[in-house]
Amino acid sequence: MSALNQPHFQDAAKAREWLEALLWPNGAICPHCGTVGGHYTLQGKGHRPGLWMCKDCREQFTVTVGTVFERSKVKLNIWLQAVYLLCSSKKGMSSHQLHRTIGVTYKTAWFMSHRIREAFRNGSPGPLGGGGSIVEADETFYGRIKGRNPKPGGDSAHKILSLVSRTGETRSFHIANVTAKTITPILRGNIAQDTKLFTDSAGHYRRLPKGTFKKHGMVNHKQKEYARGEVHSNTAEGYFGLLKRGLYGTYQHVSEAHLQRYVDEFDFRFTNRVSQGVNDAERTDAALRQITGKRLTYRRVSARSQDQA
Ligand SMILES: [Zn+2]
Repeated sequence: MSALNQPHFQDAAKAREWLEALLWPNGAICPHCGTVGGHYTLQGKGHRPGLWMCKDCREQFTVTVGTVFERSKVKLNIWLQAVYLLCSSKKGMSSHQLHRTIGVTYKTAWFMSHRIREAFRNGSPGPLGGGGSIVEADETFYGRIKGRNPKPGGDSAHKILSLVSRTGETRSFHIANVTAKTITPILRGNIAQDTKLFTDSAGHYRRLPKGTFKKHGMVNHKQKEYARGEVHSNTAEGYFGLLKRGLYGTYQHVSEAHLQRYVDEFDFRFTNRVSQGVNDAERTDAALRQITGKRLTYRRVSARSQDQA
């Protein structure tokens, strides 16, 4: 059976049951008060399928409340197809391709992929590395900043800094310029101290204070040194190859305003890559947990700030 022939990709009710099983392994979670398990399903005429009532706060909810799928006219099984396709295509999938593959309009496909992409960001809020593990940091250039003429040195291009854990997460940042002043706070804020950081020997890395991390190893690209034992940034280089092929080949033109979102998408897939033991179905599950959980968080946060206002 091909992947998209599975029942939850073909039928909206099956999709809902499947999503409930994925997101609520310990029983339905009330999005209003957070109580887990013991809630009632509301059945019969006049009730939407998949409607629940909370045993504590008596509010009604479904598995899609507070997610990007809520209030969408697109059927849930079609949403799941879109998430699967974006998660399983190594170099991404354009909205034109998505539109043709899942049978929604181009406009809808564009909207869906942006919502999914938005949710790819920041799976884990904690720092990368730790426990003496290895994180590589490197930067790359993409496209051209409007109004700036191409000059050697990459100053006219957008800059992307990537932190790539050899055994875990990849996190990238669209940054204004590549200097110690912009890069050092990102390294400190996103990498655990007990980490071996490997970079090239560019000036902005040489200026990183000693003792910031457990170890800081640099390879000197200018002297054609690319690896010294475990000290190298080849994983990050490989990631940039994939990112560039996606940005130039699949998405063709990514505007400055959207660049971070596209980079988030590539980060997510690379974090959950095959060499980390994650297959297409598992990557899709991970995305769905993130998509739904994230929307809930946003909603709770905004509800709380309204309470206080
Ligand atoms: Zn409740």
